[in-house]
Amino acid sequence: MNVMKFGGTSVGSPQRMKEVAAIIDRGENVVVVLSAVSGTTNKLVDIGHAYSSNEKQKALDIINVLQSSYSVFLDELFSTNEGKTAGTEIIQNHFDLLRSFSRNGFGVRQYKEILAQGEMISTQLFFQYMKECGKDAVLMNALDFMRIDEDGEPVMEQIKRSLAQLLSQNTARFVITQGFICRNPLGEIDNLKRGGSDYSASLIGAAIGADEIQIWTDIDGMHNNDPRIVEGTFPVRQLSFDEAAELAYFGAKILHPSSVNPARSAGIPVRLKNTMKPDAPGTLIAEHASEPGTIKAIAAKDGIIAIRIVSNRMFLAYGFLRRVFEIFERYKTPIDMITTSEVAVSLTIDQDVNLDQILSELNEIASVEIDRDLSIVCVVGDNLESESGFAGRILAGLQDLPVRMVSCGGSKNNVSLLIASSNKNHALNLLNSTLFTKVTA
Ligand code: ASP
Ligand code: MG
Repeated sequence: MNVMKFGGTSVGSPQRMKEVAAIIDRGENVVVVLSAVSGTTNKLVDIGHAYSSNEKQKALDIINVLQSSYSVFLDELFSTNEGKTAGTEIIQNHFDLLRSFSRNGFGVRQYKEILAQGEMISTQLFFQYMKECGKDAVLMNALDFMRIDEDGEPVMEQIKRSLAQLLSQNTARFVITQGFICRNPLGEIDNLKRGGSDYSASLIGAAIGADEIQIWTDIDGMHNNDPRIVEGTFPVRQLSFDEAAELAYFGAKILHPSSVNPARSAGIPVRLKNTMKPDAPGTLIAEHASEPGTIKAIAAKDGIIAIRIVSNRMFLAYGFLRRVFEIFERYKTPIDMITTSEVAVSLTIDQDVNLDQILSELNEIASVEIDRDLSIVCVVGDNLESESGFAGRILAGLQDLPVRMVSCGGSKNNVSLLIASSNKNHALNLLNSTLFTKVTA
């Protein structure tokens, strides 16, 4: 059995939904995981914020506009009166629910319930369409099996057990379910964070021991560089899990970074496919080796803050790094990149919620400088250190662009460069023209 996940643009119009139905019809039994119709979750966030700040009329206005954007589905997705009536009822129920929050108290629980409506609507409309087409389909509610713990982490054992039970009760060829949404330990509706439908698909694939987890989007796989910035990029045919994880984390938007782990632990390949070009091979992520030293792709992540921590006491001392790291740990702030010299350490973070406290504690043990508006450019490949001169090629490729930090040798898959965000586009283009003479696409 495969798991096939379709993102927001893949279900973004009646025509696209029909294409999804045609794509899943080509294979065997499948669990179909759907995102919300593109743009919907953003609007639901706006509605939630409006209610939170007690701007009820604003919330109702956004709800009305959003509801009217669904009328095209009623007009064009269904061709029978039964289909149209069922579709109208689905839309009405969910938008009535969204309006009902104007009458009652509003808090985090209600906010999360609002966010869940996008996937609820898209899966029900799609299921109704499949029924109208006479397909052997069932709708399986993700709230009945997807569970997170108090830290927001999936509870794999429970997910596995519930899914096994639910799937043993039905033999339908198409099992349709929602990405993104889940229940928390209090039994409330919750979610796997923005973009989390990929994560849902990977968790479901791992839980049922799927043959393959397919992530269908609107681009034909993970590209060797950012196609919005660099011309002539191409899809990378194969990536290892490590390479895919680095690229997803460092900015390749096509795959949610958390979604690599469940698939990798269960040894299940992940295939990235394009809904608009279903026959294109896309990208296969699996535990396979490629020719050592091959540079596969470049990705970049913005919004990076660098902190340089200089201490004369670090000279020939031990324990200094521990004290530095403990400060970041206390404020639950992950560190992305780190480089050290004998008297100083530079590191990067991508969130500044607790920055003031972190800086004041760091100031007690060292002098501290901070730089903002930086980007990490990450060059990913297989066993890069085995190729002589690869680091030189990367740095030479950047020509005279200033580089704030270089990190290499942390893993065998990655060389990271920290540069000013204003130089990012230039850097990606320069690296593209120097590095991709020796690429396996
Ligand atoms: N609909 C959710 C979002 O927009 C989840 C997803 O699409 O992956 O974040
Ligand atoms: Mg996505």
